[in-house]
Amino acid sequence: MEQWSIDRIPVSTNDHLLEHEANAYLLTHNCEDALLIDAGYADSTQTILQQIERRRAKLHGIYLTHYHPDHSLGAAYLARLTNCPIYCHPLEYRPLLELYASRSIEIKNIHIMPSLVNGSTVTHYNQSLDVIHTPGHTHGHIALHDKTSGIMFTGDTVIPQGTVWIGPPDGHLRDYLQSLDQLIARKPSTVYPGHGVVTDQPDALMTAMKARRLMREHQIITLLQSSPKTLEQLTQEIYKESVPTEMSWVALKTVQGHLQKIREDMIISVTVDPVANQISYYIESTTSVK
Ligand SMILES: [Zn+2]
Repeated sequence: MEQWSIDRIPVSTNDHLLEHEANAYLLTHNCEDALLIDAGYADSTQTILQQIERRRAKLHGIYLTHYHPDHSLGAAYLARLTNCPIYCHPLEYRPLLELYASRSIEIKNIHIMPSLVNGSTVTHYNQSLDVIHTPGHTHGHIALHDKTSGIMFTGDTVIPQGTVWIGPPDGHLRDYLQSLDQLIARKPSTVYPGHGVVTDQPDALMTAMKARRLMREHQIITLLQSSPKTLEQLTQEIYKESVPTEMSWVALKTVQGHLQKIREDMIISVTVDPVANQISYYIESTTSVK
C-alpha cells in the first residue's frame, strides 16, 4: 500500500504578536485528495495553496491540533477558498469561534466540525491517524498518530527547540505531563512538531522535555521552602536577567502554571498583604505531598 507523502510547510508571519514560524503539514495520497494538519497564520494561505497546487491535490479537510492563531488563522481562509471543512477537538471549538470573531473573520460560510475526540481516527485512503487528546498547552489539544508508520503530529505538545507554553488559563501543567507520558508510551518513530524541524529521536526529546519541567518544579518547591515569595519574586529568582523584558509575562505565566500544579500536590501557606497588595506562598520544609 502506498504511503502518504508528507510536506512540512514552514509558514511565517509579520504579525508581531505571534511566534515567527509555525508548521503546516500537507498529507497527499496519489496526488489526489489531501489533508492538512494545522494551517499557520492568516498570511500563510498562499504558501499552502501553492504547495497543494504543486501536488495537484484537492484539499479534503483541515485538522487543527489546537485553536491558537499561529495554527488556525490560515484555516479559516483556506476553508473558504477550498470549501473544505475544519476539524478540531470539541474543547477548541468555542475558543476557535471567539478567535475568529475577534479577528472579524466571517464564519458563516465555513464548516467547523468539533469531532476530533480521543480514540477516534482520521482515515484517508486506507491509512489512519489515531486522535490522541493531549491537553496541557490548551484544553482541547490533540496529536495525530499513524501507528503503522510510527509518525506522529504533535502540534505544540512537543517542539524541538525552546519551551512549550503552559500557562493558565489555557494551559495546565499536570495535564501536560500526562499528555507527554501518553505520547512517550506510544513510542513514535518520527515526530512532526507544530514549530521547528522534524525529529526522528522523539523519545529522547520528550523525555528531556519532561525532565526539564520536573527540574523546574523541584526548583520552585525548594525556593518556596526557603522563604515566602510572591509570584513575581519567584519568577525573578528563577529567570534572573535571562528573559527579555517583553517576554517577562511568559516567564510569569509559566511559573504561575507550576505554582498551580504544586498547590494541587502540596500544602502551601498563602499570605495576603492587603496594604502592599501582595500574595506570598510558602511551603513548610516538612510538608509532604498531599
Ligand atoms: Zn504554536
